[in-house]
Amino acid sequence: MSRTAPTCPCGLPQAYENCCGRYHSGEAAAPTAEALMRSRYAAFVRQDGPYLLRTWHPDTRPPVVDFADAPRWTGLEIVETGDGSAFHQRGTVTFRARYRGGVLHERSRFVRVDGAWVYVDGDFIE
Ligand SMILES: [Zn+2]
Repeated sequence: MSRTAPTCPCGLPQAYENCCGRYHSGEAAAPTAEALMRSRYAAFVRQDGPYLLRTWHPDTRPPVVDFADAPRWTGLEIVETGDGSAFHQRGTVTFRARYRGGVLHERSRFVRVDGAWVYVDGDFIE
């Protein structure tokens, strides 16, 4: 890792450009549901609305992503994954996303649309 490049917000010890930045730019597609989850978290941190919308299932996608009341995200921890590998058509990712003042604990569902992973929806976990 270069000394000047900032670490990716998704939590992996890589420079943003070599990690989620490749997915955000469209240079590469997230190969697994976990990679897509990490890249979507990083997109929330960077307030990349277009990326969030194009990785959202058409049936559940909001018209816009509004960052006006967005929390200040401070870290992502992947708790568990189910399926969602290069060999699956669907998968789940359970994660804890920390923000200033709290934590979001969710199990998200992902499917492939035309080969690309997209986020469908999620359940909050108590
Ligand atoms: Zn990343």
